Parts: sequence; C-alpha cells; structure tokens
Amino acid sequence: MEKLSTKDTQILLESIRDIPDFPKKGIVFKDITTLLSNPKALDILMTHLENRYQGYQLDYIAGIDARGFIFGSILADRLGIGFVPVRKKGKLPYTTVAEKYALEYGFDEVEIHIDAFGKTKEAKVLLIDDLIATGGTAKAAANLIEKVGAKCVEACFILELDFLHGRKGFNTPVYSVLHIE
Ligand code: AMP
Repeated sequence: MEKLSTKDTQILLESIRDIPDFPKKGIVFKDITTLLSNPKALDILMTHLENRYQGYQLDYIAGIDARGFIFGSILADRLGIGFVPVRKKGKLPYTTVAEKYALEYGFDEVEIHIDAFGKTKEAKVLLIDDLIATGGTAKAAANLIEKVGAKCVEACFILELDFLHGRKGFNTPVYSVLHIE
C-alpha cells in the first residue's frame, strides 16, 4: 500500500480552505470545494485512494450526505464498483432503514435504502466522507450498513480532526488521508 508523500500531503492540505466562524462562531470549517476545483490535487487524492483500495475486493462504496457522495462516486467509478448514498432523513424515495445519532444539542438521523446492496451476501463496503469530527455521523452510517446485512470493512475520510478523537469507539478500522492535530 503506497504511503502519500510529504509533498503530496502538503499539496492536499494547501488545497483545502479554512473558513473561520462557519457555520457558527468558534468553528473552523474545512472547505473542500477548493480541493475539488484543483484538478492536480483531486487527481493526487483519488489516485492515492484508488491504489489503497484496489486490493480490498470491495463490493460497494457508501458515501455520506453530501460531500461523501463526491469522493465516493469518483472512487467507485475508478474501482469499477457500485456507489450507495447514506442520506439525511427524508431524502431517499424507497423503503429505508434509519439510525439516530446525538449532536451537541439534540439528534440527527441518517438513512439507507433497505435493498442498497442488492442481493450481494455480506457485501464488503467502504464508508467514505470528507471529514471526521466527533465521529457521530460516520458511526451511525457504519451501523446502517451492518443493519441492512452488509459489512463495513473500513471508514475512510479525507480529513480527520484528531483533537476531537472521533475514531474512538469505532468498530471498524478508520483511515484518514490527512490529519489536523
Ligand atoms: P461528526 O459527526 O462530528 O464527525 O461530523 C462530521 C460531519 O460534519 C461530516 O459530514 C463533515 O462534513 C461535517 N463537519 C463537521 N465539522 C466540520 C468542519 N470543521 N469542517 C467541515 N465539515 C465539518
């Protein structure tokens, strides 16, 4: 498995823009739109993920609403496998399975189609999102994958906020391309 070089790590980190105090005071929002609009950075990222996961014999990529859809779809296409969306409540049209998770104040809910992984028995699924903060969203998404009979073999993030310890308590391996200590 190829490790990302220091130079490529730097290119990726510099391609993500910091927006202070968005969506509320005290939060530094990591804006990946500047990575997406930079073809060199996007290619470095997607080639790295393609190399990492081509040996995993995955059946599907599951991406989290909404930025996980972008990276997940590109990776699924590169690996020649299917893509499955994990969406915020009320967006999926067919029968769904839902999972609630705690936010700082209150709850949120994610859903997946009950037949998302078709007839594949214990489908091997990679979960992907742009960023792991507290880990609540991704843990709920990983639970959903298992609830509909598939196996979440790894959770992958472009960026991990290490100081929030979101990977703690995850039942599946976690891989993050970039880290903010
Ligand atoms: P969490 O459930 O706390 O791990 O939050 C992860 C979700 O919220 C991901 O879908 C991220 O896209 C989004 N998110 C949380 N914190 C940030 C941040 N500082 N910058 C950008 N996105 C964030």
